[in-house]
Amino acid sequence: MPTIQIKGGRIIDPDTERDEVGDLWIADGKFAAGPAPSADVVVDARGLIVCPGLIDVHVHLREPGQEEDETIATGAASALAGGVTSVACMPNTLPPIDTQAAAEFVVLQGRRARKANVYPVGCVSKGRKGEELAGLGQLVAGGAVAFTDDGAPVSNAGLMRRALEYSKMFDLVIMQHCQVMELTVGGVMNEGFESMRLGLGGMPAAAEDIMVARDIRLAEITGGRIHVQHISTARAVELVREGKRRGIRVTAEACPHHFSLTDERLRTFDSNFKMNPPLRTSEDVAAVVEGLKDGTIEILCTDHAPHAREKKMRELDQAPFGIVGLETLLPITVTHLIEPGHLSWLEAIRKMTVNAARLINIPKGTLRPGADADVTVIDPATTWTVDPAKFLSKSRNTPYAGWEVRGRAHTVLVDGEIRHTLGGIVSEAG
Ligand SMILES: [Zn+2]
Ligand SMILES: [Zn+2]
Repeated sequence: MPTIQIKGGRIIDPDTERDEVGDLWIADGKFAAGPAPSADVVVDARGLIVCPGLIDVHVHLREPGQEEDETIATGAASALAGGVTSVACMPNTLPPIDTQAAAEFVVLQGRRARKANVYPVGCVSKGRKGEELAGLGQLVAGGAVAFTDDGAPVSNAGLMRRALEYSKMFDLVIMQHCQVMELTVGGVMNEGFESMRLGLGGMPAAAEDIMVARDIRLAEITGGRIHVQHISTARAVELVREGKRRGIRVTAEACPHHFSLTDERLRTFDSNFKMNPPLRTSEDVAAVVEGLKDGTIEILCTDHAPHAREKKMRELDQAPFGIVGLETLLPITVTHLIEPGHLSWLEAIRKMTVNAARLINIPKGTLRPGADADVTVIDPATTWTVDPAKFLSKSRNTPYAGWEVRGRAHTVLVDGEIRHTLGGIVSEAG
């Protein structure tokens, strides 16, 4: 394998609190401790940020079963274009990822694609039916890095309690789509002034708050690890903050749409603003940002949810929930969290690297010598316009079409191999 020198960039590694201009060396697919005598490839990173490859702990890759929306290969390519070198994919496929063989299939397809690293998240319940616990040990043997029934919550408190107890054996986290389903029947958007005004079915914030409160309490009595997916309400953020203060093993993630958009967007009746949990109010957005600032929310991720055009083009109440996110995670983070001064580059990168790696127990998210050389080189200053036609994802369902944003992944390496580049900064050395 070629020896690579990434030269003159601003190296930011939250794992070691490093933030300095310098060179990064890669040999045999791993980070080297110091300079090699010569480099085969030089990446000119002057003026750019060099950080551990970004990790997205929440994506839907739709394979098997809905390959018209996305495949593991197209989703992993979309990840690379967004600067993401590792993804954890949700098990709500057809069939669901609830057996060892199903998890192994995802791992195999990820290896075949040879794009971003793909880690399967296994189901909590058999068939995602919410009745019987899935074979968690088998799923771990197949490569699962966490468990969830995402797409839907684990509604049964007894089942969630057992899942939290069993998952302790593997020290893996239970990721929960926190929603009391009985409160959101027929819901299309956040319940409140806007839903009333538009005459659309509402999904109250309380549906999320109540489930977050229940699951934090269950984590407390079991000692298990609960992770709140796509947190979206002010009260849920407060509950997680309080849970952490009491020493309960609770973590939380936020997605760009929940800190950059509000429910007022639904006035256009555009289904690209329909997601679950829904866009909330400006007070909720402010609370999510505050939670990101004070560390209550330690993870940034996308909930990348591709849907083919013909599905998303249906009437608003018929259209499926969800948006693609992998190719806009970084610029929306830059324009809505870093540029306004809510997070520093180091803090933002921390939430997409080492914190994400720790959540799912993978040896990634670091530039330490000896670690797999997954690197994202970011151009922090470039301004560009989001054009869904150019996405590498198979789907185009983004609310950010036409937005002028700043910051973009320039060159991305996985295992010391350049797998994505906008070009112009990589050269073969003599
Ligand atoms: Zn979800
Ligand atoms: Zn999801």
